[in-house]
Amino acid sequence: MILHIDKTLSKETVEQLAAKNQAFCIEEQEHFTVITGSAVKDVPADFEGHTLNSWVFPNDNQLASREYIKATRKVDFGSFAIGGDTKNTVLIGGPCSVESEAQIRESATFMAGLGLKMFRGGCYKPRTSPYSFQGLGLEGLKLLAKMREEFGMVVITEARDASHIDEIIEYTDVIQVGAKAMYDQGILRACAKIRKPVLIKRGFGTTLQEFVQAAEFVLSGGNPNVVLCERGIRTFETGTRFTLDLCGVAWLKKHTNLPIILDPSHAMGYAYGVADLARACTAMGIDGLLIEAHPNPKVAMSDASQQLNHAEFEALLNSLKPVAQSVGYQMI
Ligand code: PEP
Ligand code: MN
Repeated sequence: MILHIDKTLSKETVEQLAAKNQAFCIEEQEHFTVITGSAVKDVPADFEGHTLNSWVFPNDNQLASREYIKATRKVDFGSFAIGGDTKNTVLIGGPCSVESEAQIRESATFMAGLGLKMFRGGCYKPRTSPYSFQGLGLEGLKLLAKMREEFGMVVITEARDASHIDEIIEYTDVIQVGAKAMYDQGILRACAKIRKPVLIKRGFGTTLQEFVQAAEFVLSGGNPNVVLCERGIRTFETGTRFTLDLCGVAWLKKHTNLPIILDPSHAMGYAYGVADLARACTAMGIDGLLIEAHPNPKVAMSDASQQLNHAEFEALLNSLKPVAQSVGYQMI
């Protein structure tokens, strides 16, 4: 249940009453928002007489629910926004991993030259094998921050686990919570305490309900800037790396108020399918696309098979623009 509580009560009092009821409390301009579990169906006695409005939900899709906020939330990245009434589909480009200063500068120079506003590169890689390249860590974060200064793009990188979440929050503009990390309570709780946008990727064995609940961890802690990312789930099929769940995307668009970004690169696992998938995703009317590209994919230190080269990436961007326009969006 979500309650809007009037401001005749002090913040301290509302926080104490919320804690007593195992509820969260967010201070907003006009009121306090108190969130209990969805099992609570009646206004708790402690809030009687102070409740301006209340919502009851069938499950814990609450703050993220379209029943609560009808319009898609607007998430502001400083130089641009998605969601709200923007109708922007932001293209997030960059390599899977930051590998060296020369590699990341070549990539940033190219992406900025195309007019891209958001640049990605992994620094702490959540690899399946301990013997694979694990990322440059803090050195990579510093290189990414340097690219932001040089090229003025918003940068995004992923948190692998909670041990380095403070570093990620310090150096990057947008925190990516990876598919393998979306159950990490340390990461989610840290992201709840800040206001920087958080992009949560769906785990490959995660139901839509669990995916939304991960977002609720961040939202209920007071960070409204959450974006969902569908990147493929595991099915019986082994011909492709994962299966991009576009039905799930339709469900998320219908039932949640969060902007949604699609990642065909990790879903497909092979460069040859990425452009077709990206056009199909764009035709759904979405808030963004995440595509991996590398100056020389053959020598990429992670996800080499799926990264586009720069010529392929540029051709893809050009082909996406009219697709976005045809469904009332613009690629930025
Ligand atoms: C990535 O974005 O490079 C990545 C590791 O993605 P995922 O968490 O979706 O596997
Ligand atoms: Mn990758």
